[in-house]
Parts: sequence; structure tokens; C-alpha cells
Amino acid sequence: MHIVLASSNKHKVQEINDIVKSMGMDIEFILPPSDFDPIEDGKTFEENSFIKAHSAWELSKSWVLADDSGLCIDALNGKPGIYSARYAQTPALRIQRVLKELEGTENRNAHFTCSMTLLNPKGEIAYKVEGICEGSIIQETRGTNGFGYDPIFLVKGDTRTMAELSEEEKNLISHRSIALRKVLDFLKNK
Ligand code: IMP
Repeated sequence: MHIVLASSNKHKVQEINDIVKSMGMDIEFILPPSDFDPIEDGKTFEENSFIKAHSAWELSKSWVLADDSGLCIDALNGKPGIYSARYAQTPALRIQRVLKELEGTENRNAHFTCSMTLLNPKGEIAYKVEGICEGSIIQETRGTNGFGYDPIFLVKGDTRTMAELSEEEKNLISHRSIALRKVLDFLKNK
């Protein structure tokens, strides 16, 4: 079975296919047509995930999975949240902004959220789900793996940041993998 992943990020397609493989399932996620360019103007992860899914469905009319994710920090009232990718111009500047905004703040609790929407070939929502990974924001960057806010995100119950985990380790606990496993369970039992 092929499912279009509503993302132009090749790394994400690879990451998701790795998780599928580790579960021994016969599903391959593929990139959407090259003119996929949705306007993500939703107010929540769930809305943006649906916008992306619907846009990819209009181009492919097949099974589509979309995800929308980001970092939510308690002391910043959930920011950067849906603005995670746009919080500053570069990943390093985004981290710098978060650390500055948290200066002198004791409550460093945060979580990554991932909202997924699965559409069937008729464009109907077949399944939607959220995955959450809890942690906290440290004062400096640590680690070089992963991407985005990984170097400042200390994983709950671990002494390492997300950027200090191997790809395989991250794939076991990440918000995206938690949501994806639920989607795959749904497809398995269908
Ligand atoms: P997207 O919706 O998956 O494209 O994620 C939006 C933004 O959230 C990314 O550009 C990152 O800044 C942040 N983000 C999402 N997932 C992760 C993650 O696993 N690690 C670090 N940052 C993430």
C-alpha cells in the first residue's frame, strides 16, 4: 500500500518509512506531487495537519497522511507552538530566542506535539491522532543529532537531550513516532 505523505521534507518521509519498516508493515510513504504547497494558516496543529492533508489529497486523490508538529513551552503559554518553524530565521536563532525568553524562568517544562490526519481516497478523515513527547528546556545546547529544537530539549526520564539520542532511539519516543504508531495500528486493524 502506498500513502502520500503531505510533506516536501524527504528526511521526514525517510524517518517515517524507517518506523514503518521497524514495525514490519508493508506500507510505503511517498512524496506528494511537486506542486504541493499548502498555506498553513490554521490556528492549531490539528487544523494545519488537515490543511496539509487536504491539499495533498486534491493533488493525488489517494490515501494521504499529514503531520504538523512543534514545540510547546509551558512558561511561554505554549509558544513557539504552531510558529515553531517560523520563530526566527534560522534553527540556531530560534533556539537563541527560546533561551532568551526563558532567561530567569524556573519552570522549564515543555513538550513536542505532533498532530496527524489520515484521509482516505475519497478525501474523508479516516483517522486523526496526536502524539506527545514530554521534556524540559535546558540552558544551553547539547548534542548534534536530529534537527530543530532537539539540542535544548531534555527528554523526560533521560539525562540526554533529543539531539544526543541516536536516530533509532529518537524514533522510539518522539511525538511523531508515537502518533505514527497509532496511525499504523489503525491501518493494521482496518
Ligand atoms: P513540522 O510541522 O514537522 O514541519 O515541524 C515544525 C517545526 O517544529 C520544525 O521546523 C521544528 O522547528 C519543530 N519540530 C518539530 N518536530 C521536531 C523534532 O522532532 N525536533 C525538533 N524540533 C521539531
